[in-house]
Amino acid sequence: LYQPQVSLKNGSIIGLEALIRWNHPHKGLLGASEIIPVAEDSGLIIEIGDWVLRETCRQLQEWQSQGVALVPVAVNVSAMHIKKLQFCQNIAAIMHACGISADLLEIEITESVLQSEDSCISTLDQLQDLGIVIAIDDFGTGYSCLSSLKLLPINKLKIDKAFIQGLPTDKNDVAITESIIAIAKTLDMRVIAEGVETAAQLAFLKQHHCDEVQGFYYFTPLPASDIRTLLTRQALNDPH
Ligand code: C2E
Ligand code: MG
Ligand code: MG
Repeated sequence: LYQPQVSLKNGSIIGLEALIRWNHPHKGLLGASEIIPVAEDSGLIIEIGDWVLRETCRQLQEWQSQGVALVPVAVNVSAMHIKKLQFCQNIAAIMHACGISADLLEIEITESVLQSEDSCISTLDQLQDLGIVIAIDDFGTGYSCLSSLKLLPINKLKIDKAFIQGLPTDKNDVAITESIIAIAKTLDMRVIAEGVETAAQLAFLKQHHCDEVQGFYYFTPLPASDIRTLLTRQALNDPH
C-alpha cells in the first residue's frame, strides 16, 4: 500500500510511503507489524526488502507509462538490509531496469542504522550521490545520535507519531515536536510529521512551520489504483 504525504504549504500530495502488506491465504491481510519482526528474526528481511524495492520501482514504471504525474516514493529499509554489500549498486540496477530516475525514490532508515556509523556511512554517501533522498524514520524514539545528523547525508526527519499524538495539549510532546522542527530547519533538512489524525494536530504543525504531514487525517495507506486516481485528479486541478 502507499500512503500519501501532504505539503503544508499548499495541501498537495508531494510524496508516498510504501507500506508492506501480505494477503495471507488463510490469515487474511497481514500488517507490517506482523511481517517485519518475523522477517528480521529469520533474516528474510533482505529478500523481502529487495522485493519491496523492485515492486515499488515496477509500480512507478507502470504509473509512468500511464502518464500519471509522479511523486517520489519512500521505501523503509531495515538496518540489516542497508548494511548488505552492494546495497546501493542493487538499487541503482533496479531503478535502471525500470527506467526510474533517482529523484523518485526515497529511503527511510531508523536511528539504529546511525549507531553503527562506519559500516553505513559510505552506503549513505553513495545513495546521496545517486540522488536518492534519505529520511530518518521515527525520529526521537531510538538513540538519537545528534552528532551523526551533521556527519551523515540526511535530507529529511520524520517526527514519530508517538509525539504527534499528544499535540497540542501534552507539554512534553509540544516541546519535543518544536525541537525536532528546529533541528531540521537549522540543519537544512525537511521535516515531516507522522500519524497526524486531527485538525488540532494539523493546526499546531502548520503554526510551527512543519513542512509536510502524513496520517489518517488526510489519507490512510491506499492501493496503487487509488493513488493513480488521486495523482491524476491532482494534476488536472493543477496542471503546473
Ligand atoms: P513507519 O515506517 O513509521 O510507517 C508508518 C506507520 O504508521 C504505518 O504502519 C502506517 O500505516 C501508520 N500510520 C499512518 N498514519 C497513521 C495515523 O494517522 N495514525 C496511526 N495510528 N497510524 C498511522 P504500518 O504500515 O503497519 O507499518 C508499521 C511499520 O512497519 C512501519 O512504520 C515500518 O517501520 C515497518 N514497515 C512497513 N513496511 C515496511 C517495509 O516494506 N520494509 C521494512 N523494512 N519495514 C516496513
Ligand atoms: Mg517509514
Ligand atoms: Mg515512522
